[in-house]
Amino acid sequence: MLNIYTLKSLRDNYIYLLKDNETGKIAVVDPGDADVVTQALQELGKPLDAIFITHHHWDHTDGIPRLIEKYSPKVYGAAKDQHRLPPCTQYLTEEDTLTWQGHNFSVIETPGHTTGHICFYSKAHKLLFCGDTLFLGGCGRMFEGTAEQYFNSLQKLKSLPLDTLIYCTHEYTIANYRFIKKQVPECQKTKEYVEKLKKTYRQTGKTIPQLIGDELKYNLFLKAPSAQVFAELRSKKDTD
Ligand SMILES: [Zn+2]
Repeated sequence: MLNIYTLKSLRDNYIYLLKDNETGKIAVVDPGDADVVTQALQELGKPLDAIFITHHHWDHTDGIPRLIEKYSPKVYGAAKDQHRLPPCTQYLTEEDTLTWQGHNFSVIETPGHTTGHICFYSKAHKLLFCGDTLFLGGCGRMFEGTAEQYFNSLQKLKSLPLDTLIYCTHEYTIANYRFIKKQVPECQKTKEYVEKLKKTYRQTGKTIPQLIGDELKYNLFLKAPSAQVFAELRSKKDTD
């Protein structure tokens, strides 16, 4: 069994703590803030065993040096970003499997937001840590990759089982869907889905995680049929 704890940090970032229930060991995904993670570990009464990094941006990595100093965890990051990540114990590429405490995570390379971005997918636990590649109702900004690359990355995520839960790293959901509703003002189903998300947010203070099967129906960035349509949508959103 794997427990997922969602920590809020900075303005709208999520940091995910993974707890292996058998051993009590803890891993963290994208710790941009060491204080938030340290406090959660203290509450759980556990040290940190491992860090997963999706990409090099500061709001995903800033906490890592202090966490390494304090806990000496294993650190997993993309081989392509070796030159600009904190020191990792293992560098990963496409189709590598990261095994942590008996839990297997497939590594999916998703260039687009950054060229070295990776996602961690667990088939057994039906979940995806997708960093800034995919958001609910949106996707990351195209800082480094091309539209073609980003489109192809999203095709990989689209092939995952429909009941996969998306754990993205920012709470942008409601604003993202405001943009989408403007693109499809007549779509009643989209409106209903957004109302459901808003209700979840009111009740729990967050919208994550959601099923990729639902996002495939309503997230226009995932639905884009070509790199060109994707690029047009991305630039429209950038200037929205
Ligand atoms: Zn980023």
